[in-house]
Amino acid sequence: MATSAKTLIILGASGDLTARLLLPALGQLLTRDPGRSLHLLGADRRQLGRADWLARVKGSFAEADAAGPAVDTLLAGTEYRAVDVTRPEELHALLDACTGTPVLYFALPPAVTASVCAALAELTLPAGTTLALEKPFGVDEAAAVRLNAELHALVPEEQIHRVDHFLGRSTVNNLVGLRFANRIFEPLWNNNHIAAIDIIYDEQLGLEGRAGYYDKAGALVDMIQSHLLQVLAVLAMEPPSTLGAQDVRDAKGLVLRATRLRGGSPVRSSRRARYTAGTIEGTRLPAYVNEAGVDPARGTETLAELTLEVDTWRWAGVPFTLRSGKAVGARRREIVITFKPASWVPAGLTGSHEPTVLRISLAPDLMSLELNVNSEDDPDLLRRAALTASFGAGQLLAYSEVLGAMFDGDPTLSVRADAAEECWRIVAPAVAAWRADRVPLEEYAAGSEGPPRWPSTAVAEAETDQ
Ligand code: NDP
Repeated sequence: MATSAKTLIILGASGDLTARLLLPALGQLLTRDPGRSLHLLGADRRQLGRADWLARVKGSFAEADAAGPAVDTLLAGTEYRAVDVTRPEELHALLDACTGTPVLYFALPPAVTASVCAALAELTLPAGTTLALEKPFGVDEAAAVRLNAELHALVPEEQIHRVDHFLGRSTVNNLVGLRFANRIFEPLWNNNHIAAIDIIYDEQLGLEGRAGYYDKAGALVDMIQSHLLQVLAVLAMEPPSTLGAQDVRDAKGLVLRATRLRGGSPVRSSRRARYTAGTIEGTRLPAYVNEAGVDPARGTETLAELTLEVDTWRWAGVPFTLRSGKAVGARRREIVITFKPASWVPAGLTGSHEPTVLRISLAPDLMSLELNVNSEDDPDLLRRAALTASFGAGQLLAYSEVLGAMFDGDPTLSVRADAAEECWRIVAPAVAAWRADRVPLEEYAAGSEGPPRWPSTAVAEAETDQ
């Protein structure tokens, strides 16, 4: 696709996000879509020569098998500047060096982002400047409101991309087709037929040396406040009239505005836990509190679970359980939609009377519909069977999708200001209860399934509520 020339300025260019996620995604995007005219300008506080910078970019591009004329052109022209990104005059010089419309990507710790916004307020930004901000967007609702006001003083909302790369994941996008282009699901997608929804993202990885960020964030902010609430919004939104940014983001905004902790009770509707030493696939992990850089007194959770309600006509009474944990034995990244039991089953049918379950796996990208069917050798005996279909992994990495939309000026895949604030509002009662120690910090051994009695009892609760 041919688009107008853009210069991607990465602030925080020598950091972890840039090397592991942004640059590979950029390389992949240019490989698949070589018509783009893109320049890359790296900036950070670390002194780095051009040769070092080029080696970093090439190393990240190699990870994504990036190649081709657009990649070569970008590599030939890329530059790195050692700057203090919080000083207006240094930012001015960066913007001056742009050969296309600037896309300023804040790949920086959140506290530094706030200082950069203050410095940018002293400048006149070139027309069309795009600002890209990473999660976490602020540290609470009040901070998100303040940051939004600062950003809106710089550029219009459509030019602000609050990045949540889960919105670029192919299966999250496929939810729209699955829900709205299939008559079999659309009439059932409500509280008349659905008993409970779980959105689970458990990973085997431990801290991986990221204590500086993670020990302040924890599982709740790292995964639930951002990514999993975005998945919930796409899963639960009303059909948008079009797939344009305004309609989709309006629909998601309505869902988030109606979402709160189930029963309004953080004690009953939230759980937190932290891993102790254990073994995952033969690798020994130390206890979280013994990882380098962790302050045990902070009481940071490595596994969090919230049960939410979406207080709308469609969803009243359906528990939405969002859970994410690190160092969990079995990697599980899926949406589980549990339907209510069949309203009537002929007498004499024995065996499985389990409810129908639709599992949508975010990695690998597939879905599976679990049903009761008659057994081959005994027609009176019900057994479980699963219809499984692959969505197929997307052609692009999630970050490539997000970057592509950003360069095209399409904010559909980014989080709008109101949604960013709502997500903090939703988790705030749990954050307050955890800080006040009103919810115990449980423990689980690394490599286990999580603390006892998990996963949640949401389905059982929904059934007893009927
Ligand atoms: P880093 O801690 O690696 O910091 C990014 C860069 O910012 C580093 O080069 C760092 O320099 C620089 N920096 C740190 N403090 C300052 C300061 N006071 N003034 C100027 N520069 C500073 O962060 P990440 O790259 O991991 O993350 C960046 C953003 O992306 C964060 O908001 C994070 O939450 C988000 N994010 C990160 C992900 C990841 O996997 N890393 C995933 C998703 C989101 P130095 O090295 O010298 O400290």
